[in-house]
Amino acid sequence: MAQARASAPEPAPGRVGRAEAARWSGALDLLRLVRARPGVTRAEAARVLHVGSGTATEISSRLRALDLLSEHPAPPTGRGRPTTTLHAHPDGPLAVVVDVRQAEWRVAVADLEGTLSEAATGRHGSKRPEPVFGAIREAVAAIADRHGTRIRAVSVSAAATVRRGRIEQSSVLGWRDVEVAPLLPGVPQVLGNDATLAGLAEARLAHPGRSVLYLTIEVGIGGVYVDGDRAITGATGAGGEFGHAPFGDPGVPCPCGATGCWDVAVDGRAVARHLGEPEPDDPRAYLIDALVDPDARAAVAQCATTLGRGAAGLANVLDPEVVSFGGLAPEVRRAAPDAFAAAFEAGLMGFRRDDPPALIASALGPDAFLLGAAEAAFDEVLTEHGLASWVEARAD
Ligand SMILES: [Zn+2]
Repeated sequence: MAQARASAPEPAPGRVGRAEAARWSGALDLLRLVRARPGVTRAEAARVLHVGSGTATEISSRLRALDLLSEHPAPPTGRGRPTTTLHAHPDGPLAVVVDVRQAEWRVAVADLEGTLSEAATGRHGSKRPEPVFGAIREAVAAIADRHGTRIRAVSVSAAATVRRGRIEQSSVLGWRDVEVAPLLPGVPQVLGNDATLAGLAEARLAHPGRSVLYLTIEVGIGGVYVDGDRAITGATGAGGEFGHAPFGDPGVPCPCGATGCWDVAVDGRAVARHLGEPEPDDPRAYLIDALVDPDARAAVAQCATTLGRGAAGLANVLDPEVVSFGGLAPEVRRAAPDAFAAAFEAGLMGFRRDDPPALIASALGPDAFLLGAAEAAFDEVLTEHGLASWVEARAD
């Protein structure tokens, strides 16, 4: 099909829009492939995309001319014709990625291959959003000064419930109903929940194409279900608030307004409650200490039990192939492996016990939120509109 397209005659007037879309679709497929598999050979790309080698060569040379891809000779393998490896262009499109969390923000630059660079970090008092975003805006402006129109999107990850592109609430940050004004005027901006974005990165980078339930403990527990590389976030984008499923103690209120939430049953707040101590100011740091404190062992085991039971419940609901644990969740599980395993097994429906989902620890580490923000950013850049505006900006 794509080969026929390459040699097709000029389209009749009125069909230009569709022809243009078709022209970009092969290019978008190739760019998305290079994004998912940096350094893929052109020969392999042709196979994966089901196009002839002539078409792959034509598309990649077009993208090279537009500074969207670069090609290097591939090391000879001894069989087949010489080919090239495909990479981000050194002058290609970039995204600014931002991570806003308790007491800290981070900003970095992401390229087509997902490589992060030029990271900047700031501390904040977190009670008012304006000064926080003011400081971030300065860091973003400094990046834009260096890269100009190469910046094609700004993507913000926030430790907050995000709904219809706004911050609805964040007990972690102490914010409610915050509109995040453009950090770089004139550049498209996206905003997402941190756990949702981290899970998107985990699924696409570590388990491409599969059904992945991602669960992460920081302050509370969050996550996302990613099915075939697409995050399932509901009608308004506020889905995946797994921390507010009633897997906790029905008598315990949650700052979200509900009671019995999982959020307050698996983290540092839960450990403190089990030990009869007041709610910690920094539940994350408190949990890190508790994980190695012999006096907190039983309290941590209760959290591991609650983690296992909830994960089983969600596995029953969502039917994932993989359950991936991020943040402090792997450590909670490791601190009381028997308690976790017993609760997970007991919570699974009988038929699932013979073939349970794989339980793994995420390997993305603390960059997970920025990597997820980069995924969301390039979902905006790698569209027909995004590429057309790239071509337009280069012409100016
Ligand atoms: Zn809640």
